[in-house]
Amino acid sequence: MTTSFLSPRLLMIGGGAVGRLAEVLGQFGLSRPLVVTDPWMVTSGTVERALAPLRAAGMAPAVFSDTVPDPTDAVVEAGVAAMRGGDYDCLLGFGGGSPMDTAKAMAILAAAAPGQRMRDFKVPAQANRAALPVICVPTTAGTGSEATRFTVITDTERDEKMLIAGLGALPLAAVVDFELTFSVPPRTTADTGIDSLTHALEAFVSRRANEEADEYALRAMRLIAPNLRTVYREPTNALARAAMMKGATLAGLAFSNSSVALVHGMSRPIGAHFHVPHGLSNAMLLPAVTEYSLNAALPRYAEAARAMGIATAAEGDEAAGAKLLRELRDLNRDLAVPTPAAYGIDPAKWERLLPTMAEQALASGSPANNPAVPTAEEIVALYRRAWAG
Ligand code: NAD
Repeated sequence: MTTSFLSPRLLMIGGGAVGRLAEVLGQFGLSRPLVVTDPWMVTSGTVERALAPLRAAGMAPAVFSDTVPDPTDAVVEAGVAAMRGGDYDCLLGFGGGSPMDTAKAMAILAAAAPGQRMRDFKVPAQANRAALPVICVPTTAGTGSEATRFTVITDTERDEKMLIAGLGALPLAAVVDFELTFSVPPRTTADTGIDSLTHALEAFVSRRANEEADEYALRAMRLIAPNLRTVYREPTNALARAAMMKGATLAGLAFSNSSVALVHGMSRPIGAHFHVPHGLSNAMLLPAVTEYSLNAALPRYAEAARAMGIATAAEGDEAAGAKLLRELRDLNRDLAVPTPAAYGIDPAKWERLLPTMAEQALASGSPANNPAVPTAEEIVALYRRAWAG
């Protein structure tokens, strides 16, 4: 029996780390980055936090800023064209999960054979080759994409969020600076924070959980759970932001080496068809899916509740599991997470698409990692259960 653990070659974590970006590139002999980011990062001046230290080191970074939320195959193709228009030796994904995933996908597509498209790399295919190394700088806490072997790209023709996995999507390095997250608005803070918590919880209860990933998942839950409400209410609380940022990266390492499960499998189709932000669609599903899965892995869920600080070591698994369910519902209330109905999703379209969404969820492979593996009919029932909360 062998196990392997994947992570970026260098993880620099801490306040002010972004100022040391040139040093990080320099350690790998890199000096000609194409920075991949979103339009807000440019108009708000945030991307300057990355560009300034690079310029100060004598580099002339170029910027591709046409990324979109829930990045699409079309944007990745435009990004590859931009890559080919210059002499770059690395890509620097700067932003939330969307710009980072775009940079990763650009590196994979640029290494593809002529005629291959993004969809040729979706799971179960392995995307192991990258044309250029990718360095990630996350600005949300977060998807953990800076530390994972995944990128999630929408197939625009099929309205499908594709999971793409392999060494080609694993960044060479990540610079994780919580000071970049002070400006994240409360809604996105909550959504991205629940995304991280879901990563850690799903990695821990996954059928593919392993001892190494467990350590990161537990550590992530210890950091995220007590700080999520604080960052939502106090955006400039440095201690809480630092804990969330580190927790998000550790959760990324955990699920990259274990897996996500049913929440993520069901969440991606909601994002693809209704353009609900990724963390928010996870949050909409988390209580119902956890309730459905609880008894299939009660000791694991109970241990997660203890790591989150909501149950004590003295409490039995049943009591801890019940507290976890209550906490996930309370968290959604405190972070003002709407139900799909309250979010304004068209009920007729929702009902009509449920069989397709269930099929797409199953095809992603993530539900097979869940402690309880659902049928398509059970997934449809869970979507209905989450509809009105
Ligand atoms: P995002 O990157 O789409 O950003 C959401 C919004 O927040 C954008 O408007 C952005 O400009 C803004 N924003 C980002 N940082 C900010 C800051 N510091 N201050 C103010 N505003 C800021 O959102 P996200 O949730 O970080 O990423 C979601 C994407 O990541 C989805 O496509 C999801 O599928 C993907 N994802 C990938 C992985 C992976 O392992 N590759 C894991 C989870 C999610």
